[in-house]
Amino acid sequence: MSLPPIAAHGRGYLAIPGPSVMPEAVLQAMHRPSPNIYAGELIEMMPDLTRDLCRVARTKHNVAIYIGNGHAAWEAALANTIKEGDRVLVPSSGHFANTWADMAAGIGAHADILDFGKQSPFDADRIAEALKADTAHTIKAVLAVHVDTSSSIRNDVAAIRATLDAVGHPALLMADCIASLGCDRFEMDAWGVDVMVAACQKGLMVPAGTAFVFFNDKAAAARQAMPRVSRYWDWAPRANPEGFWQYFNGTAPTHHLYGLRVALDMIHAEGMEAVWARHARLARAIWAACDAWGTAGRLQMNVSDPDVRSCAVTSLRLDTPDGTRLRAWCEENLGLTLGIGLGMGEGRESDAYFRLGHMGHVNGHMVLGMLGGIEAGLNALSIEHGAGALEAAARVIGGSPE
Ligand SMILES: *Cc1c(COP(=O)(O)O)cnc(C)c1O
Repeated sequence: MSLPPIAAHGRGYLAIPGPSVMPEAVLQAMHRPSPNIYAGELIEMMPDLTRDLCRVARTKHNVAIYIGNGHAAWEAALANTIKEGDRVLVPSSGHFANTWADMAAGIGAHADILDFGKQSPFDADRIAEALKADTAHTIKAVLAVHVDTSSSIRNDVAAIRATLDAVGHPALLMADCIASLGCDRFEMDAWGVDVMVAACQKGLMVPAGTAFVFFNDKAAAARQAMPRVSRYWDWAPRANPEGFWQYFNGTAPTHHLYGLRVALDMIHAEGMEAVWARHARLARAIWAACDAWGTAGRLQMNVSDPDVRSCAVTSLRLDTPDGTRLRAWCEENLGLTLGIGLGMGEGRESDAYFRLGHMGHVNGHMVLGMLGGIEAGLNALSIEHGAGALEAAARVIGGSPE
């Protein structure tokens, strides 16, 4: 018996780990004519905007804004601090660490990848060994992906600072918070991070198109010591502009700035602690459902230890090609788009993985709807799974009774 179609109307739900769902208020703020870029409101709003952006990153230092995506932020961070022939150390727990390493290779650096696999976080002892072995201090930076969006591993960035200090190694500590900023707790200054890269289309809830590099005084000194920095990527004028155009080295990303202004207002009205707590609660609901599904059949979370899971994204494994079938079913039948697996295996193996994005503008009914949709898909496709997932998630969302 064929079922009547039910996906045609209502809101679609893009539950992929970036770009994320955009708030109406962000979209409305962007729906306007282009402003004057030489005088007026747009220029006047920049000091507060950069200050509020730094508050999300938990830094009192600098931010440079680029028209670009996360890859642009990666390149910008490297272009200001790493020259041809330098070495960088890249602990890896997934695809994004490997790609950042490749970007470093692209500018002529030697990237030493410390591979921790795709199910485990960084091991500070192995990072310490690699740093100790570098007695000549040829390693100029450690490139640490905070949340690797492919595996959904969350790494302990503060532990890398502790390791660098314990070993007495002067390398810069750089963190990729493209997935985690505004979702998982991150404290740039308190954790001793020198450079942090982010982009606007994940936890910051703005369409893709602006990228951010936060940097402290130690990183600024490394920039000053560079023989040259390509003009477009140079963060110095962007972070300390004498004229408005220097923020962006040309025309500003006008509408992104209006959208970002509203997104930052929303984040700070909620409060950083509350933003992190909301993501953690929603993530626990998702994990509770996944645990229940996993009591029978083959659906499993990629990361078994909840202490090292991201609250922004969950990577799941099913039998090949059931992950792909499930995604297709949810999209066609429900208007629910789940994320593809990324860099988790070769060929058919990669079809076994899929990802849930739960970053930014998400709440309880969205997460319960997503989980209900997955349950419907598992049933419809006769994919074996344990019972009680939705009850388990509802208990986390609802809290335990008094
Ligand atoms: C999304 C993402 C990137 C890449 O960002 P783009 O905007 O797609 O270039 C890099 N690192 C992490 C951790 C990400 O989640």
